[in-house]
Amino acid sequence: MTAPWDYPDFDEHEGLHFFRDAEAGLTAIIAIHSTKLGPAAGGTRFWHYADPEAAITDALRLSRGMSFKNAMAGLPMGGGKGVVLADAGRTKTPALLAAFGRAVDSLGGRYVTAEDVGMSDADMVAISTETRHVAGLPVGQGAAGGDPGPLTALGVYLGVAAAVRRGLRRESLEGVHVAIQGVGSVGGGLARRLAADGARLTIADADGARAASLAAELGAQVVGADEILTVQADVLSPCALGAILTADSIASLAVPIVAGGANNQLATPEDGARLHARGVLYAPDYVINAGGIINVGLEYLGQGDRAEVERRIGQIPARLEQIWEESAVSGDPAAQVADRIAMRLIGRG
Ligand code: NAD
Repeated sequence: MTAPWDYPDFDEHEGLHFFRDAEAGLTAIIAIHSTKLGPAAGGTRFWHYADPEAAITDALRLSRGMSFKNAMAGLPMGGGKGVVLADAGRTKTPALLAAFGRAVDSLGGRYVTAEDVGMSDADMVAISTETRHVAGLPVGQGAAGGDPGPLTALGVYLGVAAAVRRGLRRESLEGVHVAIQGVGSVGGGLARRLAADGARLTIADADGARAASLAAELGAQVVGADEILTVQADVLSPCALGAILTADSIASLAVPIVAGGANNQLATPEDGARLHARGVLYAPDYVINAGGIINVGLEYLGQGDRAEVERRIGQIPARLEQIWEESAVSGDPAAQVADRIAMRLIGRG
């Protein structure tokens, strides 16, 4: 058996917690990477994994990413992540969610949860019956909080515009060709904002009907999910899965810019160097996609309203600029520069 600390992604996690409630049908993991800056915050993923090792690896990678994301977003929060190991039928019951709420509560506020893939704001309400350490709850108009997707999309949109300014020397998005992989909550919101600015869009989604209906609404072109990574465009915006930037996919990219909302886009750290070597301007994922955590983070901390959330999301372009500038000066890949800054912020540099 592999000890938790021998996992390649362990990276000095402060804690890795396992929960089981047979009666409620819950098997879950909560990984806490760092609480240096505050309570470890990060959503909970509800997913059917091939085996428990895959779930542990996912929890470790995602919680480390949250440490970096929260630090770079200037939030007084550390990084953590919840993973609920769903059965093959993805059965989700009120009892299971309540049991997960108790698991979160048992950590006494060291971990704060919210939505991630497979979890909705209604699920957060169910979890909140057992713990107050939960955000992403439905809120009134003008308040911070609620579904993080649209605010993640806002940050990604601002980041794409910043990349276009730097990489293409273009102030406007009019006529800029953006290829979007995945048009769900984040990719769909991004597409609508870009279309409103007159950008030309090519989109792909594993759910063909979803892509077709958005394309009809926005006048976008649809390509197959297997084609989107090789579309010749100005920007590729990955907004679906992680680990899509590999040695192979990077070699066949036909864009000068990669800027999208998906978490963990680089399959390995070397892929950041591969993008750099190809001259691709890369927006580190956890910097550009921080809008959602800024929203739910301020909700949890009670530190401001929707206007404050938007003001902070407005700082994402400047943060990207700082990374790109340091990358240009040092010659190091943008991904590496971002990791270096984040590590310094969490006291591990
Ligand atoms: P979502 O489930 O709403 O949308 C994802 C879309 O991607 C779906 O329409 C799905 O059909 C599509 N998809 C899946 N596999 C695909 C493939 N191989 N090719 C093309 N399309 C595919 O999820 P979301 O909330 O929009 O999140 C998208 C990404 O952004 C995820 O990586 C998520 O971790 C990341 N993210 C989301 C948020 C947020 O606030 N929602 C915040 C930070 C990061």
